[in-house]
Amino acid sequence: MPRPWPTPGTGFWARSHLADLDAAQARLRDGDYGVCQGCGRPISPERLKVRPAAKSCVPCAAAHR
Ligand SMILES: [Zn+2]
Repeated sequence: MPRPWPTPGTGFWARSHLADLDAAQARLRDGDYGVCQGCGRPISPERLKVRPAAKSCVPCAAAHR
């Protein structure tokens, strides 16, 4: 049974997470780090602390499931 979401600790997760971090660093350079790609609003600092590479706020991430 394929999992609906990558499980932390799997190779897939680690690779995609690294790619996300690269993208996060690029956004940091461009000045739009911490801004939701879905609605353009700032992502909450609490979420960024848990997921530094988060590209969207909690409501948008939930909507994309
Ligand atoms: Zn959003």
